[in-house]
Amino acid sequence: MWDLVTAGKVALTLIVGLVSVVAGRALSCRRRRYRFSSADLSDADLEPASLRGSEDRLAQGLRIPTVSTSRDDPPPREQLLRYHQHLRDSFPTVFSSHAVTVEVVNELSLLLTVAGSEPQLSPYLLLSHMDVVPVVEEHWSWPPFDGLVQDGYIIGRGAIDVKQTTHAILESLERRLLAGDLPRRPLIVALGHDEEVSGREGAARIGHLLEQRGARPLFVLDEGITLMQGFFPGVRQPLAVVGVSEKGYLALEVTARGQAGHSSIPPVPTAVGRLARAVNRLHADPQPVLFGRGPEMELLRVMGPVASPPFRLVYANLWLFGAVLKRAFLKNPALRASVQTTTAVTVLKGGYKENVVPAHASAIINHRISPLQDRDDVMACDRNAISDPEMEFEVLHHSPASPISPYGEDDAPFGLLAGTVRQLYGDDVLTAPAVMVANTDTRHYLHLTDNVYRFNPIVLRPDQLGMFHGNDERISVENYHNCIRFYYRLMKNMESDAVVAQMP
Ligand SMILES: [Zn+2]
Repeated sequence: MWDLVTAGKVALTLIVGLVSVVAGRALSCRRRRYRFSSADLSDADLEPASLRGSEDRLAQGLRIPTVSTSRDDPPPREQLLRYHQHLRDSFPTVFSSHAVTVEVVNELSLLLTVAGSEPQLSPYLLLSHMDVVPVVEEHWSWPPFDGLVQDGYIIGRGAIDVKQTTHAILESLERRLLAGDLPRRPLIVALGHDEEVSGREGAARIGHLLEQRGARPLFVLDEGITLMQGFFPGVRQPLAVVGVSEKGYLALEVTARGQAGHSSIPPVPTAVGRLARAVNRLHADPQPVLFGRGPEMELLRVMGPVASPPFRLVYANLWLFGAVLKRAFLKNPALRASVQTTTAVTVLKGGYKENVVPAHASAIINHRISPLQDRDDVMACDRNAISDPEMEFEVLHHSPASPISPYGEDDAPFGLLAGTVRQLYGDDVLTAPAVMVANTDTRHYLHLTDNVYRFNPIVLRPDQLGMFHGNDERISVENYHNCIRFYYRLMKNMESDAVVAQMP
């Protein structure tokens, strides 16, 4: 009897202890303190009047169909040159200033180097691209290349991917130069012309050129993830999600061989049968789930202090609720892709005649590689899953995942992005890292710095995600104005005394 009472007391103590630890952590979880506080950053902002007209300049840019169709097609040369001219006409001070060197790289990309008044300071590199993806015009509610400004939106292909950042960077620079406010620190702006079809003619050439010149930018900032609102349970305000890595790419062809023969007396096993078994096994035994080992943990942790009560308990106690969150990640295909190398069998080949058993059959497997794995890891998992030693593997295309850029509280460039977001959107809008599932031009600049970030400074809700490469692409005027303010503030912040002292 005494033992039962003791056991009950012990159990109760453990439960009370656990509850108080969980609640204590939820109450005490604090916001990340990045290197720069508001006091360190510049308080300069654009005059609202100076934003006037910016939406029309973007809209006119959207009227120029700079469409990249495929790697094998020539770039839309004439349209890209028209777009260059539009940028020159829209930002005359930038393109004529003695402080800015404008270079056309490989005929169609643009490289702008802004000389700082203190040229010994390290530069930083802002990227964007000028091409857009094709449209299926009949699925649009408005003509995709009319560049309409209507009901508070700027509408057209390229409005969020990503002519808005090309324009926003140049708008902020134009305002500064026009006001005689020469940047203190050198700045490089690279505008590629073929990002949507790999960037190998644009960004790759610029990346090479900058390397030859010995450029060592403090960081690279390109298009990427957005301020996401309504995506995270329990978090009402937008969360600025910065891509700190990009998944890699691996296309494999696996081939099964077998005996050919007439279909009336089929040999056993057939190549098709073996291939089908292999495909089945790949789906049944996918690549390992790497939840808990990448930036997703920091993203969850960041949300703790601003989440509503029940979620706050969860985000502040990842040690306890990790398994629950992992299950939630695995249920959502987009979240799942962020913590796992994905596997998609995209092409099947085998057979040529209805009554002949073919001697070989093959499948193309498309993997997007997690930054925590490399090609050999992924292929070893595939071989293991298929467990057929006679299956042949051939690598068709491969590019590794990019390294994970630093995102800790002490990492100055990440802290600067977080500080700039906070300045613009308020103290409740926090910044968190994530792995990007799509690719950007940053792959051509990885050799210049370890600090490579992918962020599109616009607020996006779940129902708007489909606009990327989809239909009815548009940006609200408010979002666009904030995009301009973001770059303006970022530039001014890079020149503030505290930032210069940390990152000379
Ligand atoms: Zn893009």
